[in-house]
Amino acid sequence: MLDDTQINQINDQYATTGQIQETDLPAIQDMGFKTVICFRPEEEDADTQPNQLKIKEKLKSLGIEYFAIPVIPGNITPDNIHQFKDIYNQSPKPILGHCRSGNRAIKMFEAIQNQSQTHQADACNWTEAYDVVVIGGGAGGIGVAASLLKRRKALRIALVEPNEYHYYQPSWTLVGAGAYQAKKSQRLMSKVMPKGVDWIRASVTKVDPEKNQILLNDQRVLPYVQLIVAPGLVLDWEAIQGLKETLGKNGVTSNYDFEHAQYTWELVKNLKTGKAIFTQPPMPIKCAGAPQKAMYLSSSYWEKQKKLGLIDVEFNNAGPVLFGVADFVPPLMEYVNRYDIRLNFNSNLVEVDGKNKVAYFESKKEDGSVDRIKKDFDMLHVVPPQKAPAFVKDSNLSDDAGWLDVNQVTLQHKKYPNIFGVGDVINSPNAKTAAAARKQIVVVANNLIASKELREMTTKYDGYGACPLTVELGKVVLAEFGFGGRLLPTFPLNPTVARRFSWFLKAVVMPWLYWNLMLKGIEWLAKPKQD
Ligand code: FAD
Repeated sequence: MLDDTQINQINDQYATTGQIQETDLPAIQDMGFKTVICFRPEEEDADTQPNQLKIKEKLKSLGIEYFAIPVIPGNITPDNIHQFKDIYNQSPKPILGHCRSGNRAIKMFEAIQNQSQTHQADACNWTEAYDVVVIGGGAGGIGVAASLLKRRKALRIALVEPNEYHYYQPSWTLVGAGAYQAKKSQRLMSKVMPKGVDWIRASVTKVDPEKNQILLNDQRVLPYVQLIVAPGLVLDWEAIQGLKETLGKNGVTSNYDFEHAQYTWELVKNLKTGKAIFTQPPMPIKCAGAPQKAMYLSSSYWEKQKKLGLIDVEFNNAGPVLFGVADFVPPLMEYVNRYDIRLNFNSNLVEVDGKNKVAYFESKKEDGSVDRIKKDFDMLHVVPPQKAPAFVKDSNLSDDAGWLDVNQVTLQHKKYPNIFGVGDVINSPNAKTAAAARKQIVVVANNLIASKELREMTTKYDGYGACPLTVELGKVVLAEFGFGGRLLPTFPLNPTVARRFSWFLKAVVMPWLYWNLMLKGIEWLAKPKQD
C-alpha cells in the first residue's frame, strides 16, 4: 500500500511516485490528490503494470481525474510536453504524476518548467565577460565553482547547466543492488549551486576560444575571461543496435542511469534461474569498475538467497583484462571463482534484441576477422560505450580521440591558457571518477587563480582516482591509484583486501563527504601536491 514515504513532493501542487496499483487508490484519495497522471505507455511492462482503463474507472468512482501521457524513457517529445502543460494548467490540484520509478514524472515537470524559464532567460544578455565561466554542474563543475569562491569571494562566476537535478552517480551501483535509495542520489540543482554563482540554465553548443565566448542552445553568447570545461561525458546508448528501444524492459538494464539502476534491483530480486549477462564496453568509461561491481553485488544477493547455483553468470568485456590495475586482479579473481562467473574478454556487445532476449557480441580474432556470437539471456546489464560531448569533440579544444586536451599535471588546456578542464571530459589518463574530480578541483582552483594573478602554477595532479570495488554485499576492495597504476591508498591498510570498513566508506562516508564538503568547496581528503 502506498504511503507518504513513497511520495516525492515537488511543490504544493505536484508530487510524483513510482508505479501505482489498484490497492494504492484509497491511499491516493486519503492523501488528497485530485488528479493522477500516468506517464507510461500502455503495457510497457505487462507483468507489473495494471490495466489503465480499470485504474481510470476506479479513480473516477473516488472523484479523482486520470490522464495517461505515453512517454518513452529518454525520449520526451514536444507533444508530450504540450499535453502535460495543458493538463497541468487545467486539472484540479494537487496532481500525482507517476511512471515506473517516478523519474519520467519528474522529468516532465522539469520540461514544462524549462520552457517557461527559457522565455525569461531570453530577455537577458551579457555585455561584460564573467571572470570565470564553468560548463557543467556535475561533480567537477559544482565543486570547482565552490572551491574558487572559497579562495576569491569577489570572483564573478557563471555556471552553465541545463538540468533541474544533480546526481551522486557513484551510489547507483548500490541502488542496483537494493542497498541504497535512489532518491538519496538526487538533489535539486538549485540546492547544490554555490551561493554567489550565477546559474545559467542552458546548454553549451559551441566554444569559441579565439573570441573567449561560448554559444548557448538558446542562441545567446556568453563571454568569459577564464573558462572551466566540466560537462562530463556522453553515454552512447545508440552505439548498440536495439538497446535504446528495450532498455528498462525485457530484462535489459543499466546502473549507468538513475531510473534504470532501480530496474536492475527489480530484475536481481526477481531472477530465480537462467542466465545473467553483464557487459563492459571499450575504454575509456567512467568508473571502469562499475560494470563488474553490478555483477558481484547481484551474485552476492543470489548467493545469499541460495539461487546462485541456478543462475549462470557471465561477464563479457570488450577489453583484454579484468581490471586495468594489476594489483587488484587477484582479489577480484577470488570473487569470480566464488560466484562461478564465466569471463569472456575481447567480447563486445553490439546488438540487443530485447523481445527475444538475445544479445549479439563481436570478438576480433588475431587475423583481424570478426566473430559474431549470439547469446540468450534472462537478465542483461549493459554499460554503454562513452564519448566526449560533441561541442568538445568537434572543436579545436580536443585531442584526436575527442577529449579535452589538457596538460595532465596542471589541468590547463594545452593550446588555450585561459581554459582548464575537470572531470570525465579531460584526456588525462586517470580513472574517470568523482574521486578523481575531488582532487582535480583543487588543482584547477589553485592553478586558474595563479594564472589569473600571473603567478607560477605550482599545484600538481598525480592522477589519483578511486574505484571502490563492491565485491559482495557489505564488503569493498578500495582501489585507489594514480598515473601508471601507482597505488595511492588513503589509509595505511592493504588496499587489495575486501573490507567492511571500505563498504562503510562507500555507502555512508563518501556520499556525506560529497554533498557536505566537496560540493561546498571544503577540500578534505583532497590535498594536492605543491612544488
Ligand atoms: P558529471 O558529474 O556527469 O556532470 C556533468 C554535468 O555537465 C551534468 O550535470 C550535465 O548535465 C552537464 N552538461 C553536459 N553537457 C553540457 C553542456 N553541453 N552544457 C552545459 N552543461 C552540460 N566515481 C567514483 O569516484 N566512485 C565510484 O564508485 C563511482 N561509481 C560510479 C558508478 C556509476 C554507475 C556511474 C555512472 C558513475 C560512477 N562514478 C564513480 C563516476 C562519477 O560519477 C563521475 O566520474 C563524475 O560524476 C564525473 O564528474 P563530472 O563533473 O565530470 O561529470
